Amino acid sequence: MAALSASAVPVVQQAVRVVEQSVPVQAVAQVNKAVVRAVVPPEAVTREVEVGAGQVFSDVLSGAGVDEVEAQSAMNAVAKVFPLIELKAGQDMTLSFERTPREETFKQAVFQPVPTREVAVWRQSDGTFTAEAKDIPVVRERIAVRGEIRSSVFEAGERAGVPHTVMAALTRIYAHSIDFQRDIRAGDSFEVLYDQPKTVQGKVVGAGSIIYASMRIGKEVRPVYRVTFADGTIDYFDGDGHSARRALLRTPVAVARITSRFGMRTHPLLGYSRMHKGVDFGAPIGTPIYAAGAGVVTYVGFKGGFGRYVRLRHPNGIETIYGHMSRFNKNIHVGSRLKQGDVIAYVGNSGRSTGPHLHFEVHVNGRAVNPLTVKRPVGRVLKGQQLAEFKRGKAHIRQEYAQLLDSSSAAEASGPIQVSSRAD
Ligand SMILES: [Zn+2]
Repeated sequence: MAALSASAVPVVQQAVRVVEQSVPVQAVAQVNKAVVRAVVPPEAVTREVEVGAGQVFSDVLSGAGVDEVEAQSAMNAVAKVFPLIELKAGQDMTLSFERTPREETFKQAVFQPVPTREVAVWRQSDGTFTAEAKDIPVVRERIAVRGEIRSSVFEAGERAGVPHTVMAALTRIYAHSIDFQRDIRAGDSFEVLYDQPKTVQGKVVGAGSIIYASMRIGKEVRPVYRVTFADGTIDYFDGDGHSARRALLRTPVAVARITSRFGMRTHPLLGYSRMHKGVDFGAPIGTPIYAAGAGVVTYVGFKGGFGRYVRLRHPNGIETIYGHMSRFNKNIHVGSRLKQGDVIAYVGNSGRSTGPHLHFEVHVNGRAVNPLTVKRPVGRVLKGQQLAEFKRGKAHIRQEYAQLLDSSSAAEASGPIQVSSRAD
């Protein structure tokens, strides 16, 4: 019996994929054909097919056994609601038929050109075809995840079931403070709270948006929070209300005047013209010098004409160099991870120097650039009313994250942090 019904399935061409579901209303075996016609209602059959290379809509139908004239008629109906040129090879389609022992009648075709849109064409009682395209409702699901890193943050995200687009967004948020190629070690971890659009059937559609994230690198924890401003702009802020996007400080000393700019100049001591690869900031001996951005120390010590010298590596191929200092911060050494604004050393007059100043260089991909003009995003800092709103929102989000993570039950959604119009 099984072998018989299998061979009875019409041989179809490349349009047919795998599944055929048959819903017999009543057993038909061993019944006289004439009786069957009178008694047994038609059997509903659905067939999953896939659009083959070079096929148009009617080819898919006729490939599945639909009469050519009907296939053409159905295609004409679809063309009114869906641009047929957008029907791509590989598109899944569900075809419905009514089958009687004598014949099979094509009833309906349904497909989703994108996960949020459904196109259907069906036979009317008069035999003509009607088509409709409609949006599939999308819901946003809030998801809390914590993952430990073994090799890379992307691998960790995949293991934790976080979509790649969300992990990519996470690395972009931290792009100015974490070098994901070099700073991350096995055992570091991430947290993320994000909203994921899905269809009501649970299919992921589009990119999720991050509400909160945190990176734990060694012992250091760096959270970021999404903030929506009254004007609709969005930015991510660290726990202190500083934009996660701030890049390099333009001036790595608190009080200073520029005494020599970037470019060709006659060297004051050597007497001949040469390139000045940095900017000199005149300041009293002992003035603290800050790390211009988050990064890792790659050199601390004496270095020729620079005297006491520090070199930092930042993400995105950026390095900063500091020279002529009087002393170093005793706590920094090669490999130290610094936050922007950490004190690295103090202004001095060591090396080939004409007076107390900081010599400061910025390198991008190994080339010295003008620290005063190099393009970098401007970071916002939340203050006053905004900062107060931010702190309240932050506490709420942490709580929601913890609740969601603890129990898979839905916590009360607080939404991303919203702050009033700018305070600055
Ligand atoms: Zn200099």
